[in-house]
Amino acid sequence: MMKAKNLTIERTENPKPKPAEKDLIFGHNTTDHMLTIEWHKDIGWKEPRIGPIRDLQISPVAKVFHYSLETFEGMKAYKGTDGRIRLFRPQLNMERMNKSAQSLGLPGFSGDQFLECLKELLKTDMDWVPESKNASLYIRPTMIGTDPTLGVKTSKSALLYIILCPVGAYFTTGVLNPIALWADTEFIRAWPGGLGWAKVGGNYGPTVAPLNRAEKHGCQQVLWLYGKEHSVTEIGTMNIFMYWINENGEKELRTPPLNGLILPGITRLSLLDIARQWDGIKVVEEDFTMKDVVQASKEDRLLEIFGAGTACVVSPVDKILYKDHEILLPTASEGQSIAERLYRQIIDIQYGIIDSDWSIPV
Ligand code: PMP
Repeated sequence: MMKAKNLTIERTENPKPKPAEKDLIFGHNTTDHMLTIEWHKDIGWKEPRIGPIRDLQISPVAKVFHYSLETFEGMKAYKGTDGRIRLFRPQLNMERMNKSAQSLGLPGFSGDQFLECLKELLKTDMDWVPESKNASLYIRPTMIGTDPTLGVKTSKSALLYIILCPVGAYFTTGVLNPIALWADTEFIRAWPGGLGWAKVGGNYGPTVAPLNRAEKHGCQQVLWLYGKEHSVTEIGTMNIFMYWINENGEKELRTPPLNGLILPGITRLSLLDIARQWDGIKVVEEDFTMKDVVQASKEDRLLEIFGAGTACVVSPVDKILYKDHEILLPTASEGQSIAERLYRQIIDIQYGIIDSDWSIPV
């Protein structure tokens, strides 16, 4: 069993200069330290180590390089105005990572013990957590199959590690910057019986070419569709929400259900929990199709569409290109949108302005 009490810490003798907050590009900077925990089938989890960040030495034969035996998580640490560092519902990331690992035959681990190790890593690199309410420290737990043998089989060894990246403001202007979507009618991100619900590297590589096509059409993200009816599933690496006036004339916030095609986002779950507390809005987890979107847009019933994920919390959409349709949406700057209300509420929880048991101090 993985044991946080066996953790050893070796501090770097050459701390790196910290980039200015304005220079922080997502994923381009790492902190001084990393956590590594090795696993072997015959031994189980070895002792966790925190040490200076370094390149890994892995056999070129290792299964991760050939069969994508890789799973990862995306979470953040936030420094509140009170100077305390907090995590947001981290246990949910631990559960999701265990399920993803299981889907690849990679080893399970104790979420509690791993979380304790993560907290120690954050304490070691606490100076790297940005001070501003607009910035945070992105956390990337990763597990790879390191077994140095070819052959599509269970990996007999694995490496679990965590790297940290300071990330700057997504929305510098204070207003949420809207994005345009290219609805892909060709490539399918996930399918029934597949692993669309898991956070495995193999799901993401194949989305790069479609994203390039979206960018050629002047869009920032792909809108992933599924099936003959073009059911709407996700936006890029975000869950999707639609706020509309439904066929019965009710104001409704809708997101597709967790039917195996959708990554069970922690932001998605949290936004659903928050919106369900609000009066005057119906909140449902139900499918919708591009036909619904086009029809609602024509009848002025389409109020908002936004993506939801850890990276930016919410990302409003102002345009969707779908076949020969150009669907335009009202943007956040026109009065207080529901995306903006949700954003404010969740940010206030993450930075400790609103007290919540979703926020876990480090
Ligand atoms: N969908 C996909 C495909 C994702 O990769 C992510 C990012 N993890 C999300 C949705 C949002 O999940 P979360 O809110 O947990 O960041």
